[in-house]
Amino acid sequence: MKAIRLIEPGKAVEMQEVPIPPVGPRDALVRIKAAGICHSDVHYRAGVAPVRYPLTLGHEVAGVVEEAGADVTNVKPGDRVCLHYMVTCGDCVYCTMGSEQFCTTGEMLGYHRDGGYAEYIVLPARGAFLLPDEIPFEQGAIMMCSSATSFHALRKSRLKPGETVAVYGVGGLGMSALQLARAFGALDVYAVDINSSKLEMAQGFGAVPINAADTDPVVEIKRLTGGRGVNVALELIGLPLTMQQSVASLAKLGRAVIVGVTGKTFEVAPYTQLIPTEAEIIGCSDHLAQELPALIELARRGTLDLSGVVTDTLPLDADAINAAMDRLEGFSDDVRVVITP
Ligand SMILES: [Zn+2]
Ligand SMILES: [Zn+2]
Repeated sequence: MKAIRLIEPGKAVEMQEVPIPPVGPRDALVRIKAAGICHSDVHYRAGVAPVRYPLTLGHEVAGVVEEAGADVTNVKPGDRVCLHYMVTCGDCVYCTMGSEQFCTTGEMLGYHRDGGYAEYIVLPARGAFLLPDEIPFEQGAIMMCSSATSFHALRKSRLKPGETVAVYGVGGLGMSALQLARAFGALDVYAVDINSSKLEMAQGFGAVPINAADTDPVVEIKRLTGGRGVNVALELIGLPLTMQQSVASLAKLGRAVIVGVTGKTFEVAPYTQLIPTEAEIIGCSDHLAQELPALIELARRGTLDLSGVVTDTLPLDADAINAAMDRLEGFSDDVRVVITP
């Protein structure tokens, strides 16, 4: 089969002919219909993250089951599916406690093992989730990364009906997060960004837009909440400044969930921001298989609307994919390109 592979760090991805991996008794062979190009893939290409080489990129994958192993019961040939990007053992202490993102031998598609920039993929069938006909493959693919992580972040926040939420960063993650927050019963959702077209889109989903280029988002959130602050803040950008702001915008007993990735540190004033308010700062890593059925159902019902998110589709072509990754590297993260082999 054809696969677009990273041969060495810092180099363009290349087309290679590789064998289709053998299908074990508990595996599924999936013919790929859509694979999202994620910002992380650009980092992997640049050699920022440690991955093995050569490697087929792509962790946002949807397709059709071509073949199911003898012991597989959850899917059959012909089923439309989207794929959980974590391949886990199911037996270790973390898998057993239902926190399989910490699986001691966990492997991420397109990072630790070959992913979806290819014609086919083989994975344990329990990582394949039925994708209803109402959801296009492109949306099914990207849902498995940004929307799933937003869903997990909101669960980590312990959001209760009637609470208020601030979403720092309304790119791919944020646009899902604010819709899901409302679906989970948030009263008001504040969308913080510096990109006015994204803020406009967020407003279309019922969020209150706050342009941090024009105003201090913490001051504005305090003003809009009668001085109290928000119950939940999601930091989806990965900047020390917005991490500080997400904590500073919390109400008493508020929870800030940090999703954005940075190697830098950020400052918190315990005596004013944590102790007297019993505020919490919560880390958030990936998402869980158990969360995916509800997420897929929310998308099927249109409660989670991803129709405006995919901006372009590409064939399985190395030049076109490298060009799309170059554009992403130039940080246009409102661009969501999906490969449709
Ligand atoms: Zn991704
Ligand atoms: Zn495990």
